[in-house]
Amino acid sequence: MTDSARAKAVEKYRAERPDLEHQLALFEKLWEAQSRFSELASGYTLDSSVDEVQKVLKQHRTLFSLAAPEIPLEPYREAVRAIAALMAEESGLPDDQVTALREADLGAAVSEDALGKALSGYDVFVQLVAGSVADERITEPLLSFVLAEAITPFLIGPAKRAVEAAGKFDWLMWDSGLCPVCGTPASSGIVRDEGELQGGRRWLSCPLCRTQWEYARVRCARCGTRRQEDLEYLYDEKDPGHRVHTCKSCHGYTPVSVEKELTVRAVPELEEIVLVPLECVAAERGFTPLGDEAEEVPN
Ligand SMILES: [Zn+2]
Ligand SMILES: [Zn+2]
Repeated sequence: MTDSARAKAVEKYRAERPDLEHQLALFEKLWEAQSRFSELASGYTLDSSVDEVQKVLKQHRTLFSLAAPEIPLEPYREAVRAIAALMAEESGLPDDQVTALREADLGAAVSEDALGKALSGYDVFVQLVAGSVADERITEPLLSFVLAEAITPFLIGPAKRAVEAAGKFDWLMWDSGLCPVCGTPASSGIVRDEGELQGGRRWLSCPLCRTQWEYARVRCARCGTRRQEDLEYLYDEKDPGHRVHTCKSCHGYTPVSVEKELTVRAVPELEEIVLVPLECVAAERGFTPLGDEAEEVPN
């Protein structure tokens, strides 16, 4: 997906959904910062044959477990500072959090040692940085968001090359709601009509490295159940292109866009902004993003 296709879709939503103006403006600036930092990403190659790469996937191991990309420390720290500054200026967070973001140097709080753990255990990484920030006003979800948005520009390129190294792979065989490249749980999905398959195929999307992979359409992306009686979806009749798939088995949910019902070509990171109000409805009904028991990260 090119930045210009995304910009076009943003304009469309800006006209259709004035209620989202604030979020759209914030994320446009975030994406702009990410694209600036993506130029500082380290080179990455996966020196394995297509057969070897596919074998790893069939063993349910991530591509980054085969060769992890290097995230350069100083450029990453700068990215963290840039995202934190944007959040302070544009996000509309409560005053105490804005002040804390301005006062703390989150970039300096990231040690080389902590950053080395970011891809093998993201939560541990966030906790290490939180320990070094030691400021209660900067909540863990906020810190986690800033650190993740700052990692993305350094992973997009390597993730693309890792997927290329897998050649023609049937991603349905990966068979998981966790990203085949970095192991992060999918943040959303897109149902797209391709070929003659009735009803289309569903592609899940990784919030961290932005990889998209195919996953069964009628199946919980969190616990993997195919029990139709447990699988439902929420949507607003006026907007059938945006849905939240819920699962009564694990109480997890997955935001999903149905492309043929949209006026734009679906771009995951943008669709996720549009899907937030529906996610809130799912949360009010007792569903959580990852369900009761999240699958283990295959690393
Ligand atoms: Zn990923
Ligand atoms: Zn489930």
